[in-house]
Amino acid sequence: MAGFFDTKIEYLKGVGPQKAALLNKELNIFTCGDLIQHYPFRHEDRTKFYTISEVNEQMPFVQIKGKIFAIGWQGEGNKKRLTAAFQDDTGKLELVWFKGQQGVLRMVKPGAAYIVFGKPAKYGANHSIAHPEMELLTESTQKQAYLQPVYSTTEKLKSRFLDSRALSRVIKELLRVALPQIRETLPEYITEKYSLIEKARAIRHYHFPSSAEMFKKAKARLVFEELFYIQLRILKMKLGRLEKLKGQIFPDVSLLKIFYQDHLPFELTEAQKRVVREIHSDMKSGEQMNRLLQGDVGSGKTIVAFLSMLIAISNGAQACLMAPTEILANQHYTGLSEFADLIGVKIALLTGSIKGKKRREIFDKLESGELQILVGTHAIIEEKVVFKKMGIAVIDEQHRFGVAQRARLWEKNKSTPPHILVMTATPIPRTLAMTLYGDLEVSVIDELPKGRKPIITSHRFDSHRLNVFGFIRQQVGESRQIYIVYPLIEESEKLDLKDLMDGFESVERAFPGIPVGILHGRMRPEDKDFEMERFVRGETKIMVATTVIEVGVDVPNASVMVIENAERFGLAQLHQLRGRVGRGASQSYCVLMSSMKLSKEAKVRLQTMVRTNNGFEIAEKDLELRGPGDIQGTQQSGILDLLVADLSKDGKILQEARATAIEVLQKDPQLALPHHRGILDQIERQKKSEVNWSRVS
Ligand code: ADP
Ligand code: MG
Repeated sequence: MAGFFDTKIEYLKGVGPQKAALLNKELNIFTCGDLIQHYPFRHEDRTKFYTISEVNEQMPFVQIKGKIFAIGWQGEGNKKRLTAAFQDDTGKLELVWFKGQQGVLRMVKPGAAYIVFGKPAKYGANHSIAHPEMELLTESTQKQAYLQPVYSTTEKLKSRFLDSRALSRVIKELLRVALPQIRETLPEYITEKYSLIEKARAIRHYHFPSSAEMFKKAKARLVFEELFYIQLRILKMKLGRLEKLKGQIFPDVSLLKIFYQDHLPFELTEAQKRVVREIHSDMKSGEQMNRLLQGDVGSGKTIVAFLSMLIAISNGAQACLMAPTEILANQHYTGLSEFADLIGVKIALLTGSIKGKKRREIFDKLESGELQILVGTHAIIEEKVVFKKMGIAVIDEQHRFGVAQRARLWEKNKSTPPHILVMTATPIPRTLAMTLYGDLEVSVIDELPKGRKPIITSHRFDSHRLNVFGFIRQQVGESRQIYIVYPLIEESEKLDLKDLMDGFESVERAFPGIPVGILHGRMRPEDKDFEMERFVRGETKIMVATTVIEVGVDVPNASVMVIENAERFGLAQLHQLRGRVGRGASQSYCVLMSSMKLSKEAKVRLQTMVRTNNGFEIAEKDLELRGPGDIQGTQQSGILDLLVADLSKDGKILQEARATAIEVLQKDPQLALPHHRGILDQIERQKKSEVNWSRVS
């Protein structure tokens, strides 16, 4: 039976080898199963008839009953066209053909009644429809109200007579044979609980719905199914891992207590306290922790990471923190050293630029266990780096690291893998997090430390640059520091570097006597550090930079972030950049500079930034604007090629599907119960055909 869906489409009625080859190439459709899953992307409404007086040019498509009474040629030369008058009791409009006229002349019978379907337009005072679809009005055509599926196709396919209409005929024929073979994959107790219609029916009505309401039901069923099986697989993987991977058990929290009571530089927010508790309960549970910590920029993830490290250290284990860039590793090292020194914890920094004797010394002290915290870049995961007993690995800014790198951290401890805490400031919408990181526990810091003033964001056109410069001067006068950021897009790195250098020079010219620094990815690490440190110490007042400053850098005195060519940045990145200011007590500002010429999407992005500071709201908007495939860090995930579900819209169904998957696995982890047979079969079938699931997160 499964064999049927694997049948090559060339054996289908109305397809044949030539069309099959085209469908293979153009749409990646090889088998009957593929073709069935080539779902329409919308439907044209053929259920409603309009009268001519109701028609206006804003309507996408209309269907009208009426009579044709005058057909003839108009215009000259290449403006020559065939027209017909089309009339009902309420009025008259014109039908127009610019090509294929002979066929029309042969077919159309003046005086006869037709159903006409097409897109209305307006020329002068009259409405017209070009190249309408026409059908003789008969007893039966009059009654056949339906929703016509519209399939994606390509120019090449269209030229070989495989337009949407033709595809719909082929699929209709295929479904006739296929529907009886489509098996239900969900047990009744699930379909009943969520009022899901049968799978075969859902597929039929997703292509050829009998009504708009049936289409909704069909869609809900297929979305549920798609998301349910994704969740089931992610959760199964997680269960498998929990069984295999015992975690190190850390009951002692003595160091954490000492630090908390005597040295904590500020009161933790409620959210930070909650997350520390969640992490602590993982670390003493006996299972390996795999936790994602999401928190908006400035929400205070670092201190949470440090406290978690202290739990491991209290129990005689070591900790490491891995950051994506040297600048950031440096900064973490500086910050954490201050804390560590207070309670006599030994800490070191390991990056690519630490070499020779110093490097060997670090290696030795790690192996002996003398070093308790190692902060660094991906240099940490090199093979030569051996820990005596690594208890917890913290990864900052997850999206910069691949899954493979995370796996290599696991191997850093020989007997039992370390606990893993992944921190990201890219707020991932809940729906996406559940799909992408379904196998991680998720903690969220959803509260900023008290006393922060929300950043004031404004959008200015390039023509107002002088005003913006005036504002910068005033802020510098109040001893504040400024970032000016230029976009850097990989393909045209040279050109962008020129933009940056030009910008740097014009800034220097505009602010004589004010020290200006520069920072970009092409500089040598030691030069970058030098520039960054000068800015941190307040020696330079303005930092002209590319997005290398995007990640994590913390200069509380910086209060203005100017983003040049802001229209070229994505929302997530804009938000990250803005997060570089607003870290101190004074009021901070973000100024988005752009040209006057803005795409509709760019406008929405800038407006969104001006409207809200909430990272999650911005992430939701980003998801809506770009679709999930584009969200940072999700590209390689391979699970976002969703067929029917849309993560930006189907959040509710996703939650139901996930809850159901959890329930199923709790009752029946091996899926051995007879009424779960259908689920097991479906998983087996998907295993054969789909992506490598071990890649997921
Ligand atoms: P992020 O989550 O972006 O990594 P950080 O951990 O760098 O944020 O914290 C941002 C700033 O806020 C730091 O200067 C940090 O010391 C400070 N901070 C963190 N938590 C609190 C708190 N509960 N109260 C006051 N300041 C805090
Ligand atoms: Mg940070």
